[in-house]
Amino acid sequence: MSMTQELLKARTSLENNLRELLGVPVFLIEMDAFALPCGCGGVTINTRGLQLDDLEVFEEHILKYLTDTVTSLDIEPSFLFARLIPGTSEIASINARVLCNSCYMDFGRGSGKQPRPDIYIMRFDRRE
Ligand SMILES: [Zn+2]
Repeated sequence: MSMTQELLKARTSLENNLRELLGVPVFLIEMDAFALPCGCGGVTINTRGLQLDDLEVFEEHILKYLTDTVTSLDIEPSFLFARLIPGTSEIASINARVLCNSCYMDFGRGSGKQPRPDIYIMRFDRRE
């Protein structure tokens, strides 16, 4: 399957799983693979209709769906987070990012689990 087909399939499947789980019409309006100059890569899933409350209450299930989705795209699920629309509890996007060493140091610094108010971290694997 081409990368585009893989993304299309993953988007539909995750959207269906989230709708079934939450019982609300969550829309995954766009799913993008990205590569950054620093060496980070991953996928961004832009969402509509998903609230921080949903994420907190169903975190365990959502984390599993997200991990499965990302793994199906051959992306290591080592750093999974949601980005909030600033000043609201509405989720703008869900992201899986394979961090380069430099960004890993930046995100890994500090002991707090949530380093920034607009970012909700679901999974961050520490490196040995
Ligand atoms: Zn980076």
